[in-house]
Amino acid sequence: MDFASKIRLIKDFPRPGINFRDITTLLQDGPAFGQVVNALADLCREMKPDIIACPEARGFVLGAPLAYVLGKGLVLMRKPGKLPGKTIACQYQLEYGTDALEVHEGAIRPGQRVLLVDDILATGGTMAAAAKLIQQCGGQVAGIAFLLELEGLKGIEKLGNHQVVTLIKCE
Ligand code: IMP
Repeated sequence: MDFASKIRLIKDFPRPGINFRDITTLLQDGPAFGQVVNALADLCREMKPDIIACPEARGFVLGAPLAYVLGKGLVLMRKPGKLPGKTIACQYQLEYGTDALEVHEGAIRPGQRVLLVDDILATGGTMAAAAKLIQQCGGQVAGIAFLLELEGLKGIEKLGNHQVVTLIKCE
């Protein structure tokens, strides 16, 4: 299936000059959504993850079914103030200002192999922070999976030596 054709491009969102890749059109297509999840699971099985972790919010949409298909648990990485228990945080730079991701203390056990999942790799800032947070928690990054990589932004360069798999690549 041509997954790329299922993702809609919306020009000038959220700001003029930005070409926003809208995955909601793919998610609305049941067979396409199912095949995407199965294809990602096939790419990630050999990473032998113990657990899946995914950043808010679109990461959850892929991380949850992927964890189910792989028979693993799921850790939610959330924006500050959203998780109810004690958290560990990692800050990262945005174009203007900073943001952070948090996980519950104890959600990742030392030495656990963690598969990180998000929908889109753009500049790489979000996933670099997510990988750092896993390591802060004592986990090992088993690999990183994306639905789509925007290759022109060279986000992959921020992900160091981690094993990265991506289903669709575009400029
Ligand atoms: P990065 O930190 O610049 O790599 O951006 C990745 C994060 O921003 C991911 O969590 C994506 O969900 C979101 N993102 C970046 N660009 C797009 C886009 O074109 N469409 C949808 N989400 C995007």
